[in-house]
Amino acid sequence: MTVPFQVNDPRGIIEADRAHVWHHLSQHAPYLDTAVDPRIIVEGKGLKLWDITGKEHLDGVSGGVWTVNVGYGRARIADAVRDQLVKMNFFGGSLGSVPGAQFAERLIKKMPGLSRVFYANSGSEANEKAFKIVRQIAHRKGAKHKILYRDRDYHGTTIGCLSAGGQQERNAQYGPFAPGFVEVPHCLEYRKDELGLGHLSGEDFGVAAANLIKDVILREGPDTVGALCLEPVTAGGGVIPPPEGYWPRVQEICRKYDVLLHIDEVVCGIGRTGAWFGYQQYGVRPDIVTMAKGVASGYAAISCCVTTDAVFEMFRDDPSDPLNYFRDISTFGGCTAGPAAALENMAIIEEEDLLANVDAMSDRLMDNLRRLMEKHAAIGDVRGMGLFCGAELVADRKTREPLAEAQVQAVVKDCMAQGVIIGATNRSVPGRNNTLCFSPALIATADEIDHLTDAVDRALTRVL
Ligand code: PLP
Repeated sequence: MTVPFQVNDPRGIIEADRAHVWHHLSQHAPYLDTAVDPRIIVEGKGLKLWDITGKEHLDGVSGGVWTVNVGYGRARIADAVRDQLVKMNFFGGSLGSVPGAQFAERLIKKMPGLSRVFYANSGSEANEKAFKIVRQIAHRKGAKHKILYRDRDYHGTTIGCLSAGGQQERNAQYGPFAPGFVEVPHCLEYRKDELGLGHLSGEDFGVAAANLIKDVILREGPDTVGALCLEPVTAGGGVIPPPEGYWPRVQEICRKYDVLLHIDEVVCGIGRTGAWFGYQQYGVRPDIVTMAKGVASGYAAISCCVTTDAVFEMFRDDPSDPLNYFRDISTFGGCTAGPAAALENMAIIEEEDLLANVDAMSDRLMDNLRRLMEKHAAIGDVRGMGLFCGAELVADRKTREPLAEAQVQAVVKDCMAQGVIIGATNRSVPGRNNTLCFSPALIATADEIDHLTDAVDRALTRVL
């Protein structure tokens, strides 16, 4: 195996990491145990990664969290960022920038019906902007201040976003949360019994699941509900694509009760589902769309909160109210590296026709997973959209009892030992950390897809 890099003092780096880095989403013990070294990624190319020991990995999750949509090692993005930074790196506040204007124009062309882009740095921040927009509008439009979010959806890590968080593991011990956020039920057909909709299927189920949102609006009082925030396909909460008929009914409900529709495209946006945005698969017309991860594929930090003209117009100058402008700023939202990277990222997706590749590779991934389902009784459900797929593991297909978390993690670890990185959903509902996640870069080849699912096949055989 050729290792395409050299690292000076790998041992020193490993020990520095062990001594000083507080890792995301991790318990300390494995990092402090001197018998186990922290895994440090050093280089990437396409879907391949090399860690500090020289081991090669195939990345089946686009940087762990559905981000590196165009793959690793894209020198042209790095060059564009470098050129931009040398020319003009930053001026914050209300002044504009060349790449900021150019990317906003290009993005809006992909989003008919929307017209304004507010820049920030992370998905959480973009969602916070959206929540603040809704709250500020509520102050002018009566009492419509409540924001609905869905069980199992995740919108970010800040206290505001956790207030809109439907995942218990992420929320536990961080409350009290902000008032005025109200949960609506999820729409996972495989678990429809939990929703009391076990007797329905197909479009009937989808419409009924959407009607559960209507019930919450009616219970809370439509005059108090300002917005509904949903992921197009729930990501960390279990890879939950919407059932047939769900989104059109959600749109109808929002229109009927004058509820702004905020779609969180932080994961699904920029090609992951096979369209530029997940909502576009359903002909939905959102009022607010937030996006982050794939916008610049992790080559720079950038997120966007995009709105319609109608939303923007609510912040028009009003002599009677000097506070009626969006009083929001993120220092680094004015950084030019993000939009410079995003412009190149978008150009790559267009030039390489990656949306078509997503469609083709999605079919292959789903077919492979369905074949695995025939072979392994532990796979209870296979679902997904584009290059964003999940396999829910169960202890018993009949009762659908989730497979024990330790076993799910053993499958992930076995794949890791084979040099294949896959993900598993977090504990959105206690005992529900049981969905394997596959979200390779949009450039994935048929061989890479097969390599991924072959590793899962071997891991399932060994672990179960
Ligand atoms: N929204 C969704 C759907 C996400 O999955 C995430 C992160 O995983 C976020 C928002 C938060 O994004 P960030 O981690 O960039 O703040």
